[in-house]
Amino acid sequence: MNNAVQSDPPSFVRTVLGDIESEALGVCYAHEHIIIDRSYPTMMDPDFLLDSTEKAIVELSGFFAQGGRAMVDSMPCDSGRNVVKLAEISR
Ligand SMILES: [Zn+2]
Repeated sequence: MNNAVQSDPPSFVRTVLGDIESEALGVCYAHEHIIIDRSYPTMMDPDFLLDSTEKAIVELSGFFAQGGRAMVDSMPCDSGRNVVKLAEISR
């Protein structure tokens, strides 16, 4: 017997640019670290620093050109994540 609760998929996705319809998400890269500002992880290993919006835009332009339309930035909060920079890159 399957006790799993069936539910409808969410009707929207929350992005750094606002909520969008689920159908509008497109091809999504589900785990990436786009921006890592100075924080505990970069203090422990400076090679983790990814603080350039310009470099991220150059790198992600290739993904966009190949049809990619969304990316999940998996950086935990208070670990160098910067949603303002992520929004700038997304625009
Ligand atoms: Zn990761």
